[in-house]
Amino acid sequence: MTLKQTIYDLTMTQMEEMLAEYGQKKYRAKQLYAWLYRKRVTSFDEMTDLPASLIEQLKERFVLSPLKLVNKQVARDKTAKYLFELQDGATIETVLMYFNFGQSVCVSSQVGCNMGCTFCASGLLKKQRDLTAGEIVGQIMYIQKELDIEDLRVGNVVIMGTGEPFDNYDNVMDFCSVINSDLGLAIGARHITISTCGIVPKIKQFAKEHKQYNLAISLHAPTQELRDRLMPINHAYPLDMLMNALKEYSEENNRRITFEYILLNGVNDSDEDAKILANLIRGMNAYINLIPYNEVDEHGYRTTNDKIALHFYDVLMKHGVKATLRQKHGDDIDAACGQLRAKHEMGK
Ligand code: SAH
Repeated sequence: MTLKQTIYDLTMTQMEEMLAEYGQKKYRAKQLYAWLYRKRVTSFDEMTDLPASLIEQLKERFVLSPLKLVNKQVARDKTAKYLFELQDGATIETVLMYFNFGQSVCVSSQVGCNMGCTFCASGLLKKQRDLTAGEIVGQIMYIQKELDIEDLRVGNVVIMGTGEPFDNYDNVMDFCSVINSDLGLAIGARHITISTCGIVPKIKQFAKEHKQYNLAISLHAPTQELRDRLMPINHAYPLDMLMNALKEYSEENNRRITFEYILLNGVNDSDEDAKILANLIRGMNAYINLIPYNEVDEHGYRTTNDKIALHFYDVLMKHGVKATLRQKHGDDIDAACGQLRAKHEMGK
């Protein structure tokens, strides 16, 4: 069976090029974007100001949403976790969170992940393939259509679900371009965050693009030795190489970098760790987001308790480094990255 491409794959430029193949003028791309992302229709037949012949051609070649909902869990704090099935039967997870500043969606960028971080549930299942741009857009669109009922919008997007976005660079950039387009969902670039475990060549490439998307770095350890143990990517791109790439990013872009640091009980949460971490980051245009660990049975790490987490935070602040202590969301459901999918796939 040949699967049709999703039309959500196409950036505005690609949409114009595709329409040119059918002899259509450029303004048709804007019309299509409006139907897809403003009116948020669910079929080509609803696009009443397009010529009937074009609608047939589009239907022949594309589908709209490439996703089917398989499972949805809603936590007490309204955090919702979605398990979607793609056209080829692969499954992915997406999370919706409610904050006082608005609704935030965490999207997956790959089916499974090959980065092998020792604490993460996503890596329990190896990468099957990259997601296309449209399969990532589809995650946002599914949730936006649900939010439409409550007259709410997706205001914030984080690429922190399963997968390594910089291991799927081009599709992730196209995804950002689609959701950022003024003619579509118009999610501000500064409301889109790309989180990477530290693929240095891609960080350098990203730095040169001068995009306004936020860059988050999964650091999780302040020394080469400890990071080597937690994150295999650190063998390929050692900590000093990563920090140099980030200095380059800061020279090219006047944007603050976020460092993510999961607190793992007795592993990376000592006083000494906090001091070394502060020394590493001090002076950079950056802050550290301390993240409570969502325990994953298979891995055996434990969450740092609140008292130690607060102390760690204090040490950073005292040593001149800005930090935030992230609140837990949806901890009564399978909220850890990849947990819902891992359970679903392994239970098959
Ligand atoms: N591959 C990218 C994006 C996906 S992971 C990256 O590494 O940044 C998104 C964030 O969630 C990362 O900081 C990751 O380390 C963190 N994470 C993974 N498993 C977690 C868990 N069980 N609890 C809390 N955070 C977790």
